[in-house]
Amino acid sequence: MSYNHLLVSRAKHSENTEIKLGHTVIGGKQPAMIAGPCSVESYEQLRSVAALLKKNGVSVLRGGAFKPRTSPYDFQGLGIEGLKLLKEVADEFGLITISEIVDPAHLELAGDYIDVIQIGARNMHNFELLKAAGRLRTPILLKRGLSATLDEFLHAAEYIVYGGNTQVMLIERGIRTYERATRNTLDISAVPLLKLETHLPVLVDVTHSTGRKEIMAPCAKAALAAGADGVMVEVHPNPAAALSDSAQQLDFEQFETFYGEVKRSGLLSPALDSNQEALRL
Ligand code: PEP
Ligand code: MN
Repeated sequence: MSYNHLLVSRAKHSENTEIKLGHTVIGGKQPAMIAGPCSVESYEQLRSVAALLKKNGVSVLRGGAFKPRTSPYDFQGLGIEGLKLLKEVADEFGLITISEIVDPAHLELAGDYIDVIQIGARNMHNFELLKAAGRLRTPILLKRGLSATLDEFLHAAEYIVYGGNTQVMLIERGIRTYERATRNTLDISAVPLLKLETHLPVLVDVTHSTGRKEIMAPCAKAALAAGADGVMVEVHPNPAAALSDSAQQLDFEQFETFYGEVKRSGLLSPALDSNQEALRL
């Protein structure tokens, strides 16, 4: 399949799109680590995660305020209150924030509180939401749909860019297959394929793709080795008591072990350009 006619294609724009978020650049030389709780639950919970990230040099905090849950009886998120908590804590610690928005009516308002708007897997095919996101200038983190092909994923991104918002990042979060050993199947091949086809940054969510804490570090390393521009992972002060995804969020100690292992691989270091490579030889 040729994507040459798409605005998101490398054929149209050979340089990588770099998304500047304060001092952090996504899609630049250095891959990013994005971490935070599945859901924003309280000021204390979010503040403790922010302090952990700050201590470890992680500058991007994620946290859901509008949660697309399978059951209507499950915690649905704090809504706008959650976005306000993200802003309060981010201002205190100097962090960049990402949170999911599910309703086009909340998109404009969200830009007052958070730095990056996530469009979740369940909404990757919500074309009215994609069109509305295209009218914004706030960066968008677009998740791959639960069973979306790469073709559908790229076209979903195209909706946003076609609307005028060029600040789009893609994130592979696992797809639904027959395999039950993991929550979803992490499609590592999506990373180099997307990097070939598009100039947009490509990230990998190791939490929702694997659902298995014990393999998140090797999967993060695999993602980075395959060329990912960053990794997302969920962390919570007390995962057993979390209001969503309690089985798969890392506690603080597990996060530090995870992050330490990924850092030690060297894969999070800035890429050398060809001159630096030559000097090193
Ligand atoms: C999330 O990142 O909070 C989330 C709900 O993920 P996904 O849309 O990938 O299921
Ligand atoms: Mn989650």
